[in-house]
Amino acid sequence: MCPLAETRKKAVFGEGPFDAPAMLVGEAPGADEDELGRPFIGRSGRLLSSLMEEAGLPREKLFITNMVKCRPPENRLPARKELEACRPYLLAQIAAIRPLLVLAVGNVPARAFLHTGEGITSLRGKFYTAESEAFSFMVRPVFHPSYLLRNRSVEEGKPVSVTLADLQEARKFLEKAIPGF
Ligand code: URA
Repeated sequence: MCPLAETRKKAVFGEGPFDAPAMLVGEAPGADEDELGRPFIGRSGRLLSSLMEEAGLPREKLFITNMVKCRPPENRLPARKELEACRPYLLAQIAAIRPLLVLAVGNVPARAFLHTGEGITSLRGKFYTAESEAFSFMVRPVFHPSYLLRNRSVEEGKPVSVTLADLQEARKFLEKAIPGF
């Protein structure tokens, strides 16, 4: 069994419509998420949700989850073994939802979806094609909101405004792909 199951309070499976055209995949639940069993509802989640709203991509339209479903102690990054233990759950979610687009939030999901060791700073700003067993989908890596909380300037070119631009690009992609989105 994955050791994270022993220290978590609640598993955070994810939330959103099962017919969502896009998924948002973060790293791992934090303390607030662990308490309530919902993804991205703490301080960084609230920032991400407000940027999504501003970009015309309200969180209710997406299926929101994480690479691992249980909080790592002290909010450390999930270890490789923990990512491996949880991968079947994420793959099952992707297979059920069949998203056109995945927003990969932060280094951990960006690297996992794109099979690279590159960092988010160089990966973000573009769409990539990823393959699952049965179909392909686009991936858009974006900065993690906890990084934005540490870099709060809203000046053009800074992390907050480039993240807003990434989310707007994602919304445009979905509008093009799905009439009436
Ligand atoms: N950070 C994440 O990556 N996921 C959450 O659900 C909350 C914070």
